Amino acid sequence: MERAKLDWSNLAFQYVKTDYHLEYYFKDGKWSEANIVESDRVELHIAATALHYGQQCFEGLKAFERADGRVSVFRVDENAKRMKRSAEKILMEPFPEDKFIEAVFKVVQLNRRFVPPYGSGASLYVRPLLIGTSGVIGVKPSTEYMFLIFVMPVGPYFKGGLKPIRLLVEEEIDRAAPLGVGDVKVGGNYAAGLRASHKAKSLGYNEVLYLDAKHKKYIDESGPANFFGITQDNKYVTPASSSILPSITNMSLRTLAEDELGMKVEQRPIDVEEIFDFKEAGCCGTAAVITPVKSIKYRDREVTYLQGDEVGPVCRKLYDTLTGIQLGTVEDKYGWNFEIPMD
Ligand SMILES: *Cc1c(COP(=O)(O)O)cnc(C)c1O
Repeated sequence: MERAKLDWSNLAFQYVKTDYHLEYYFKDGKWSEANIVESDRVELHIAATALHYGQQCFEGLKAFERADGRVSVFRVDENAKRMKRSAEKILMEPFPEDKFIEAVFKVVQLNRRFVPPYGSGASLYVRPLLIGTSGVIGVKPSTEYMFLIFVMPVGPYFKGGLKPIRLLVEEEIDRAAPLGVGDVKVGGNYAAGLRASHKAKSLGYNEVLYLDAKHKKYIDESGPANFFGITQDNKYVTPASSSILPSITNMSLRTLAEDELGMKVEQRPIDVEEIFDFKEAGCCGTAAVITPVKSIKYRDREVTYLQGDEVGPVCRKLYDTLTGIQLGTVEDKYGWNFEIPMD
């Protein structure tokens, strides 16, 4: 295999065109086989429901090269399940889970030369997308759909892996309603959150920490990532809420905190006042794995967990264990890695 000519250790988290993406079409009640496409453009009906009424959902996961050159993808079965839930919640035709896993394998195989080499710190980000494509201008679900999947090599979200960030608790803008669609991975939630993120950044913070929209009292999540805190008595606590996305990274960290670090794990409503008692806090998601939280500003008070660029010991251990499993340097007791056959 000849690798793509890229500066592997200096990749950012941004779009890079690779060789192929795949498209599958739902029409007349059934899904097509994969169409292998070289162009990175799609042609859509001007009245497609995805364009007007937000009938779209997506996923994000990563493939890694190991020291021996084999390639694996992390917990793809969970992404397949979650995309089905997202689709069903906004009345879209779900993409079958087994076909989802096949599509991930196939798109990585076809773009093998873009999988970053072991040791570069980079990985191959896989982006599945499902959109309603029928031209119906009345508000109703589409009858036709397209599932497409593309990949891009990405560097660590933050260079050097772990970069502590400052959060701002947001009280004037809601990302998602308690009985809305905050618990599924749809683009509309991101549109709703853009203003808040923009505001936080313009005030010198890195991201927003949302409170639940109903009581404005409990922590929800941070823009595109889940939130967790480490209590003084060493518990891993993370919000239970109907308006946050169930993160697969968070699910994995809960398992590791309990099994590998011997911590108690609690998933429950977290009163925002609890942030003042944590010894560490973090945001988690596929892109960055863990982003340690340096400080959180809430109204006129700010709590600081970390000085300079230091990283707390619990976040460090969780990060090293999870990334070690992904790269094959820590034993994968849980069967989280799916090896992608290459020939
Ligand atoms: C994708 C996403 C996450 C992170 O989920 P992972 O499965 O860990 O990547 C968290 N919050 C929101 C809103 C998301 O869309």
